[in-house]
Amino acid sequence: MNKPIVAMTEAWPFIRHYRNKTFVIKAGGAVLSNPEAVKSIAQQCAMMSDLGIRIVLVHGGGAQATKLSRRLGIEPQMIAGRRITDAETLEVAKMVYAGTVNVDLVSALREQGAAPVGISGVDAGMIVAKRRPLVKIKDDSGNERTVDFGFVGDIQSVNTNLCTKLLQDGFLPVVACLGADEKGHPLNINGDTVAEALAKALEAEKLIFLTDMPGILRDSGDPSSLIPFADADELASVLESGIVAGGMRPKVEACIRAATAGVKRTHIIDGTAVRSLLLEVFTGEGTGTMIVGDREKQEYQEKQIG
Ligand code: ADP
Ligand code: MG
Repeated sequence: MNKPIVAMTEAWPFIRHYRNKTFVIKAGGAVLSNPEAVKSIAQQCAMMSDLGIRIVLVHGGGAQATKLSRRLGIEPQMIAGRRITDAETLEVAKMVYAGTVNVDLVSALREQGAAPVGISGVDAGMIVAKRRPLVKIKDDSGNERTVDFGFVGDIQSVNTNLCTKLLQDGFLPVVACLGADEKGHPLNINGDTVAEALAKALEAEKLIFLTDMPGILRDSGDPSSLIPFADADELASVLESGIVAGGMRPKVEACIRAATAGVKRTHIIDGTAVRSLLLEVFTGEGTGTMIVGDREKQEYQEKQIG
């Protein structure tokens, strides 16, 4: 039989199931520094949007912020995958996240015929956050330190009104990972955390993290050590074991909270791999690490057996 027709028939149940459902997709800075990956992600998001999936694209821009910081003579400081944001770094975050990266993503989506609207968590009080107090934290070497993260926000509430209105009207919100306090003062917020908060508030069907790794690895130097499937409890012990470091840590923490809060499926996949999003969404194959809640785990295991 004709190949495209076979492929379309296979994808049909997924297309039907996901129509009108919300996916929150987060593209990390590592992926966004690869122009081919940006084009491919834009194409896949545009296609899913055309198939009736309500896509919200959240982005970071850590790699780009680091680059601009250095150009401006400011050496970035990271602890446990999170950026220390002094006043100058907050300026950089605004320029990069709500500026270059956001506009470039909107532009790439326009090129693919989608209807993107670039916003940040500051708009319409979407992400309300509180400046983080001094915290005791274990750094990547496992040493406890007291850290002032500066203008970094911890999310307090999410107002989905703007996103919902845009989605209802067929737009594709592209959300830069900034938030603001009650008075509207901007704060830098980790993109993984913004995606998690939006997925929970929008009761998303899926939360998908696109990064530059095949998923969560037991050994970050060995792609064959991929953890293909985990629930929140298993992930908590993975975190405890210390095999997850740097920027993967906030991602795994976000997955645990999302799964616990009822987001059915959370995925960490390689955004640089060819059509990885479509493969995940429209085939039974799946890629990367899939994180599920308890109920989903039971269903999945029954299906595996059955
Ligand atoms: P993004 O821009 O997508 O948020 P980050 O650089 O913040 O990406 O986080 C992903 C990075 O986390 C990977 O590039 C990898 O270097 C690092 N990492 C640390 N531990 C692991 C692990 N166990 N599995 C996969 N990646 C890991
Ligand atoms: Mg990151």
